[in-house]
Amino acid sequence: MDRHDAVKALLTDYVLGEMDAAGRRDVETHLASCVECATETRELAHAFHHLALAAPAATAPSALRERVLAEFSREHAAPSGAVGDGEWQTRGASSPLRYWLAAAAVVILGLGTLLAVSYRRTAEIEEALTRVRIEEEALQDRLATIAGQGDLAVAILTAPDMRRVDLTGVDASRGAVSRAYWSQTRGLLIVADRLPAPPPGRGYQVWLIAGSAPGPVSAGMLAEQGEGRGMLIVPPPEGIGGGAVTIAVTDEPDGGRPAPTGGKHLLGSI
Ligand SMILES: [Zn+2]
Repeated sequence: MDRHDAVKALLTDYVLGEMDAAGRRDVETHLASCVECATETRELAHAFHHLALAAPAATAPSALRERVLAEFSREHAAPSGAVGDGEWQTRGASSPLRYWLAAAAVVILGLGTLLAVSYRRTAEIEEALTRVRIEEEALQDRLATIAGQGDLAVAILTAPDMRRVDLTGVDASRGAVSRAYWSQTRGLLIVADRLPAPPPGRGYQVWLIAGSAPGPVSAGMLAEQGEGRGMLIVPPPEGIGGGAVTIAVTDEPDGGRPAPTGGKHLLGSI
């Protein structure tokens, strides 16, 4: 294991302040010369900050914790599971906050690095805005919007009525992968990867289809993150009930349409 890998493995401990002074000095020496580790440290600090705000007091409600852990074990079903479980329980007993933050972070980072993407965007926007010297007020507004999205994402992911929907790529988007998290009370979070670029002048629009609504209800346009990635985090659109739901993504003229007109790209139901 080289120096970079060794430090990378310690960044979570470093950000959570769980290292002795000598260890911190070692990490800081490396951070001064490694852009990748420095960036990851900043993203982890942002993510933990927001999770800490989202986590009620020092101890998460047990139902919430069970939910996070269930998701964690689904995402990380590994042969060494028994050992890992013991380790998590021990940490839980000694440091509930750390346990909750780490478990929540694993869940969130497992979602196609959803938050990492939004925090990376934060960094990009910060840099771009500084370059053109736009006034601080405008910068604060945009950062608040992105931070608000992170908070909504956490609310959706931890909602008691949250259901996961795996979407399948169809036709031109056969190779795409996508997953949605739907909570009738909190909203919809959808991430997609390996989508082809939409035709010029068009974008991807997300639809919810349910028995409670007369037709497909728009959830909004998938924000393109580059490299075939897209993401949308929205409060629940009106008119969609708590029963069976189908989620579809079509390509539509920029700005979207009130009802779908273009080709289907992603489709999934629960
Ligand atoms: Zn490094």
